Amino acid sequence: MTASPASLREISCADDYDPNSMPVDKAREVIARFLSPVSTAERVHVRAALGRVLAADVISPLDVPAHDNSAMDGYAVRFADLKADGEMALKMTGTAFAGVPFAGEVKAGECVRIMTGGVVPAGADTIVMQEHVQARGDQVTIGGGHRKGQNLRRAGEDLKAGAVALRRGQVLRPAEIGLIASLGIPEVMVYRRLRVAFFSTGDELVSVGTLPQEGQIYDSNRYTIYGMLERLGCEVIDMGVVRDDPALLEQAFQEAAATADVVITSGGVSVGEADFVKELLNKLGEVVFWKIAMKPGRPLAYGKIGKAHFFGLPGNPVSVMVTFYQFVRDALLKLSGRDPIEPPPTFRVPCTSSLKKAPGRTEFQRGILSRDAAGNWSVRVTGEQGSGILRSMSEANCFIILPTDQGNVAPGALVDVQVMEGVI
Ligand code: AMP
Ligand code: MG
Repeated sequence: MTASPASLREISCADDYDPNSMPVDKAREVIARFLSPVSTAERVHVRAALGRVLAADVISPLDVPAHDNSAMDGYAVRFADLKADGEMALKMTGTAFAGVPFAGEVKAGECVRIMTGGVVPAGADTIVMQEHVQARGDQVTIGGGHRKGQNLRRAGEDLKAGAVALRRGQVLRPAEIGLIASLGIPEVMVYRRLRVAFFSTGDELVSVGTLPQEGQIYDSNRYTIYGMLERLGCEVIDMGVVRDDPALLEQAFQEAAATADVVITSGGVSVGEADFVKELLNKLGEVVFWKIAMKPGRPLAYGKIGKAHFFGLPGNPVSVMVTFYQFVRDALLKLSGRDPIEPPPTFRVPCTSSLKKAPGRTEFQRGILSRDAAGNWSVRVTGEQGSGILRSMSEANCFIILPTDQGNVAPGALVDVQVMEGVI
């Protein structure tokens, strides 16, 4: 464990960063220092554990496989009976099916018909594929060229009894819940879900179902945030729209921080608005307001309100999603007990569009990754990149990540892309 983190204010002094031009990686690093994962665990049925995070190692109670068994349909033989080259005739004395073992022993000059998964009978040490024998009645003729122990799966070869099958911190995907079931374990310990409260701020916002007056817009951020939180397995507390009114905001922040592990808001952190939200949050907790050197998503607030973590996301719908993908996702995974946390994979492909980019900040343009008839991948930009154009997120299947020093991109140049699917 690292030492308990210094206050956000101490860090800001010690690290000498500029809150008006905060590099993406630096902001991630600062946030990571303050995250302490949930510790409460609960016991759930293996199916209910899908998508949850293991709170304790899963130890195998048995050898997997439990017995030496056949990897093929064929014949169980004693290797010493076979000739190195040349044929050998053996007498078949019975059959071993998967689940129905052969009760006897394979003696010299004998063999047993065996099916895939059948327990290797006593005396036998080698399996010969059925395609490599000639069988007539109980006479089985086998040629040369075999290897002792071939086509045999050894007891405990996948996993020994007492070995760690799955590690604490692992998220349980279909493969893991299948593995747990294969060990005969009906229930596992998982961390409790992370509770996340969120609300939108803005006098201009109305919720779906209400008719907007002139100048009003529908609140979409509460829907994208809801979706992203659900995908990450959080328990969501939707607190609706809160007007830009200090008393109402204070009440909302306090209520959220008292009930949730994490509080997420959108809007209210851009220039002008931030001043009064800043004042409020300084009173309620310890929060830093950054202008991240990125596009979109420049304004971002992070801190603690009481015990709760706070993320103040920008108001623009695309900025909300980009800052969520780039900062909030990893933080929520860590708080949920996930360990290790793999950063979303990126890889390099040619970009077929020409991209406008000013050096000095990281850009997350929305891209469409596709494959041509020859099987080669490339990316193109979705079109207009305005931070209010939510359609660009909907059309995209990846971010084109353009690093700080990068300038314009000519068609055909290689760019880093980060696939969206599976990340959230
Ligand atoms: P703000 O950061 O509050 O100044 O918001 C920046 C822009 O995002 C403004 O155009 C807002 O109208 C818009 N916006 C803020 N919150 C939302 C929301 N919940 N849904 C859709 N648009 C929003
Ligand atoms: Mg606003």
